[in-house]
Amino acid sequence: MRRNTILVTGGAGFLGSHLCDRLLGDGHEVICLDNFFTGTKGNIEHLIDHPRFELMRHDVTFPLYVEVDQIYNLACPASPVHYQHDPVQTTKTSVHGAINMLGLAKRLKCRIFQASTSEVYGDPSVHPQTEDYWGNVNPIGPRSCYDEGKRCAETLFFDYWRQHKLEIKVARIFNTYGPRMHPSDGRVVSNFIVQALKGEPITIYGDGAQTRSFCYVDDLIDGFIRLMNSPKELTGPVNLGNPNEFTIKELAELAIDMTGSKSKLVYQPLPQDDPRQRQPNIRLANDELGWKPIVPLRDGLRLTIGYFERLLSLQSKAVLAPFGI
Ligand code: NAD
Ligand code: UDP
Ligand code: UDP
Repeated sequence: MRRNTILVTGGAGFLGSHLCDRLLGDGHEVICLDNFFTGTKGNIEHLIDHPRFELMRHDVTFPLYVEVDQIYNLACPASPVHYQHDPVQTTKTSVHGAINMLGLAKRLKCRIFQASTSEVYGDPSVHPQTEDYWGNVNPIGPRSCYDEGKRCAETLFFDYWRQHKLEIKVARIFNTYGPRMHPSDGRVVSNFIVQALKGEPITIYGDGAQTRSFCYVDDLIDGFIRLMNSPKELTGPVNLGNPNEFTIKELAELAIDMTGSKSKLVYQPLPQDDPRQRQPNIRLANDELGWKPIVPLRDGLRLTIGYFERLLSLQSKAVLAPFGI
């Protein structure tokens, strides 16, 4: 395979760091760009001395001039707690970030991948979600900075494709979990595992009957690589996620069971605009990319629990401080 120089924005985050690992493993040069809003140096510290890895502190809302062959645009806080912390900055990151990275791709005439999201479907009235569904999104609610920011980014990608003939690849990512999730990002998998390991109450929002479909990170990254390297006609959007759907209560019970925890379930109010159900239809990814997830939830959770056990057992406050725990 030809060796490329590849830019990964948001490369110090959960998904970005796994993508950097995979691209280096495939023999490429990697420029990892991050402003460390939610990403940590710990996620990529094992790569710092790698001869084909370069770390760059930069905010994608500002222009960037580098020379690369491919761009993966992942920069954006992804958990509701993080993206609602500074909602204006979240929209700027999605929209200005997309404009800058598309401008960069246009100048370089290089292929660009966008990490879009199942949130573009909002609280979906079509189930499971197919790529041709336009979604049910509140434009003025607390999730809108993320949902509408990502929708606008998709619009920009398709306008650069139509107007400037750019080669674009848009992935709609469904809930993904695995090692290097941020332990205090408030997402359901990290919350439940950390709570179970600490013997604290497991916080179920609402009645726990809402559903999500959880994809293990290695499966997702394999989908990224296949989509990026697919024929140029395949622009997406392409759903990437695991179609096995679980209720949040089932996930809580699994977390307790697999950690052997004595934690009890507690019920708290459901956040505003929380989608009732979510499950990807992955027929397109399967047909066009030959892709489907292979890691069962129990196996992925075992690896994720192992990661959080190691993290929580670290005694050094300096190591835990960046995670706020
Ligand atoms: P993450 O928060 O771990 O990673 C995002 C990274 O982007 C962090 O390292 C953060 O510091 C960086 N970042 C944020 N704003 C930036 C800016 N202005 N300039 C430069 N860097 C910036 O989240 P993640 O789960 O790894 O998500 C990565 C991408 O995938 C995001 O775009 C997210 O919207 C998308 N996504 C993730 C999921 C999921 O389940 N993990 C689902 C759907 C979509
Ligand atoms: N841009 C960048 N790096 C480049 C080229 C462009 O960051 O190598 C940014 C620049 O800030 C610009 C944006 O991308 O405003 C959009 O670029 P484009 O060429 O599409 O539009 P224009 O330059 O006309 O605004
Ligand atoms: N959730 C929960 N308890 C938690 C964290 C989340 O019950 O401690 C619920 C949340 O209300 C939502 C689901 O789990 O219905 C998934 O939440 P997450 O923040 O992980 O992702 P998203 O809502 O963006 O899919």
